[in-house]
Amino acid sequence: MLINKSARYVRTLPPEDDTKSPIGRSYYNTYNVKTKEELEAKLNAITGLEYEWKEDECIRITSEPISAIRMIEQHHGQAIYQWTFHNSVIAAFVGWQDSRNNRKESIRFGNDETMPEQTLQAIADFMSTNKMSYPWKKGDIFAINNRLAMHSRNSFTGPRRVYAAMSGDVVDGHLRKLQPAIHNPETFGLWKLATPEDSVYNAIKCGYRRLDGACDYGNEEAVGRGIQRALDEGICTRDDLYITSKLWNTYHDPKHVPLAIERSLRDLGLEYLDEYLIHFPISMEFVPFEEKYPPEWKNAEGKMVVVPNDINKTWQAMESLVDAGKARHIGLSNFNCQHIRQVLSIARIKPTSLQIECHPHLSQEKLIRFARDVANMRVSVFSPLGAISYLSLSMATDQDVLLENPVLVKIADKHKKSVAQIMLRWAIQRNTLPICKSDNIQRITENRSLYDFYLFKEDIDEINHLNLNRRYNDPGVFCELAFGTFCPIYE
Ligand code: NAP
Repeated sequence: MLINKSARYVRTLPPEDDTKSPIGRSYYNTYNVKTKEELEAKLNAITGLEYEWKEDECIRITSEPISAIRMIEQHHGQAIYQWTFHNSVIAAFVGWQDSRNNRKESIRFGNDETMPEQTLQAIADFMSTNKMSYPWKKGDIFAINNRLAMHSRNSFTGPRRVYAAMSGDVVDGHLRKLQPAIHNPETFGLWKLATPEDSVYNAIKCGYRRLDGACDYGNEEAVGRGIQRALDEGICTRDDLYITSKLWNTYHDPKHVPLAIERSLRDLGLEYLDEYLIHFPISMEFVPFEEKYPPEWKNAEGKMVVVPNDINKTWQAMESLVDAGKARHIGLSNFNCQHIRQVLSIARIKPTSLQIECHPHLSQEKLIRFARDVANMRVSVFSPLGAISYLSLSMATDQDVLLENPVLVKIADKHKKSVAQIMLRWAIQRNTLPICKSDNIQRITENRSLYDFYLFKEDIDEINHLNLNRRYNDPGVFCELAFGTFCPIYE
């Protein structure tokens, strides 16, 4: 059985898959099936388990789940108050050590590799520290933080298998709600690419499926060529990609919104965007395409001109793009809590995501919590490596760069990873989607090799302590310095 994209869906494997697996008979007898009928027979044998078939040969478990980790209050009539893990990955790793259970080999990935002991220990630590609980039932599937899924131990001999990654947001230590999976959550950033066509092509080849662009980056035609090259070579399909672009500040007037997306789509060579964001909560004077494209921050007279605008009307024009099939999702970038409330107050189609600057110098805890918990938005984070990309713009100094920060270097050494990987992993463990840019193929690869290690709670705490509320991308600073217009948005 394989888990499909979302929680608690299973799919039968093609028969030939069985023959490749070196796992013994007991494993087959317990879980693997060749036909739908055999699968149904297995599932029907699990008392209390109910399920339904979906159109695409997936089945969904419908019976009421129970918690995998429960507070035991009574034991043999005695009052005890103790968290207990039931048939979880932890039970396999730290409990029930007997002839049937070798803890070091107790969990295997779907390709049969054993899960490293260090990873299992990290999961055990995480779960025990956070009292993590997931509503779960015998025969159901268990998931941790987007990467791990398993089923019941039952009375089971042989290794437990991790079949697929799926999504689940850990919020305050609890897997509260399951959202559709984001496979390949790491996002390739397109700002300031020196070789946009090649870098986009290389990124897709290296496995990135999410691309974050904008009209303002001035490279959508080259990005489009890179995408097309990857599609032509069959590296992936358009459906596999999640492509974001952004509405520039000069196009906030509702009549300009459809023109702006059409121009981005034309340049990118696409029929639709997966996501279109309002780039900044700053409305600027319209600049016609033929005068300057992208218009950047200044008009033809070299002035940055902020104009009065009703952002609600802009949002309604964004909603029309979804109606027209031009954008699958719409969202916000560089908006604060109050800006988000404003949009929510009139939104017919709610913003699905918020994109903000975030790195160890700017941890944005309240804004992330508000966006996720109150506004139900996904949060993607730009400049996840901190100051580096602002050095060339004189918006940061060498002292701001985090790559040699002793705390991060120590954590990186401990995990045998680079400092960049530690910062990206920190973003992922906070359930944000890091957007990272690189023109260098080695770093492109490095920046998505983030899943063979796990930051411990003490690592996370130490990184959290680096917060300085230091913002490098602040229109309240750079607009005045560069364009002579004072334009604060976060205050
Ligand atoms: P970033 O990805 O954190 O940093 C990029 C810089 O770090 C580049 O100079 C890159 O150089 C270097 N780098 C990348 N990987 C590295 C590694 N493993 N080790 C050492 N150095 C590494 O920051 P960003 O470019 O500011 O932001 C990322 C993306 O976020 C942008 O491309 C854009 O898509 C988005 N963004 C959005 C907004 C917004 O207003 N919504 C604003 C800024 C950015 P090399 O290229 O030489 O590797």
